Amino acid sequence: MSGLAFRAVTHHFGRRIAVDTLDLEVAAGEVVCLLGPSGCGKTTTLRLAAGLETLQSGAILIDDAVVADAGGALPPEKRQIGLIFQDYALFPHLSVLDNVAFGLGRGHSVAEAQTALDKVGLGDRGRSFPHMLSGGEQQRVALARALAPRPRVMLMDEPFSGLDVRLRDKVRDETLALLASTGAAVLLVTHDPEEAMRMADRIALMRAGRVVQLGTPESLYNRPADAGAARFFAEANTIRARVGADGRVETPLGVLSGAGLAAGTAVEVLIRPHALRPVAAGEGVAARVARSRLLGADSLVEFHVDGAGAVVSARIAPPVLPAPGAEMCLSLDLGQCFVFEDRGDGPK
Ligand code: ATP
Repeated sequence: MSGLAFRAVTHHFGRRIAVDTLDLEVAAGEVVCLLGPSGCGKTTTLRLAAGLETLQSGAILIDDAVVADAGGALPPEKRQIGLIFQDYALFPHLSVLDNVAFGLGRGHSVAEAQTALDKVGLGDRGRSFPHMLSGGEQQRVALARALAPRPRVMLMDEPFSGLDVRLRDKVRDETLALLASTGAAVLLVTHDPEEAMRMADRIALMRAGRVVQLGTPESLYNRPADAGAARFFAEANTIRARVGADGRVETPLGVLSGAGLAAGTAVEVLIRPHALRPVAAGEGVAARVARSRLLGADSLVEFHVDGAGAVVSARIAPPVLPAPGAEMCLSLDLGQCFVFEDRGDGPK
C-alpha cells in the first residue's frame, strides 16, 4: 500500500504503556487524524512514524518498505517525511527563504525553495525573518519547508493550535488544499474533535494508547462505538435506565431502542443537547425551564423534567430564549440519542 502503515506497534515509557498494539494505515492522498484526550498516545505515535522515538515493538512501513522494526530503523531524514509541529520550529536567525531551503538539504537550488514559498502565497517574503511574519504566515513557511522536499508522508502535530480562531479556519482550508495537491499520506494529531472532523478523511479515536474507533467523521459522530466516544465528540445528557422486557428503554424524555441488549441490562442513555426540540403543547414530554442563555448560533436551555434527576440541557435555535419557569414540551430526535451498556465508567 502506498502511504504509511503501523503494524502492531507498542511503545512503553518505563512501565507506562503509551501506544498499545496499534494497527493503522494512511493511504497516499488521505488525511487521517489521530484524535483523543491528553496523554492517549497521539504524539508518541507521530514521533515513532517520524523516527524521533526508537521503535520498541511492531513495524512501520512507508510505501510498503519497512522503515522501522525489530531489525533496525531508518533515520528520520531518510524516511521522506515532512514534519510540522505546533511551534513551527523555524530558525529565527535564517531568512524565510533559507528556512525553506534548509528543509531541502544540500544540493538543491534556491529556485526550489522559492517555488515552495510561491505555493503557500509567500513568494515575496523570502528575505524577511520569521519574527517579521504573523503566526499564520509562519505556519505557511513551516508548511512550505515541510512540502518542498515532496515528502511521501506528512506528519503534523497540532499544527493550527497557535493560530487565533478566525485565522485558523482559513489556514486549515489552504493547508488541506495544498496537501491534497501533493498526494502525500497525512497523519495529523489533534485533541479538537471539530478540527478532526473538518480535516480528516478518517479519524482514529485513541484512548489509553489504543484506537477505540476508526472511520469517517460522519460514522464516528453518528455511530459512536461506546459512550466515551460519543461524549468525546459532543456533550450529552446521561440518563441511567434498564432495557425493558420488550427490548426498549423507557426514559423520562422518551422511549428508545435497547440497541439489541438483553432485557434487564443496565444502560446509559446519552442524549445530545441538539436532540431535544420544542414541540407544540400536548406533544412530547412536559418540561420547565430552569435557565437559558443565548450562545450565538444556539440558545442553551436547561430544563427540569419529571423523573430525569439533574437538569437536562438542550441547544435550541434562536429566537427561542424562554424565561426561567416557562413550561414547554420537548420531543427527541432519536438520531442524536445513543444507548450503551452501563459499565459503570461514565460520569455519575
Ligand atoms: P497531548 O495531547 O497532551 O500531547 P498525547 O495524546 O500526544 O497527549 P503522548 O505525548 O503520546 O500523548 O503521551 C502518551 C503517554 O506517554 C502519556 O502518559 C505521557 O505522560 C507519556 N510520555 C510521553 N512522552 C514521554 C517521555 N518522553 N517520557 C516518559 N513518558 C512519556
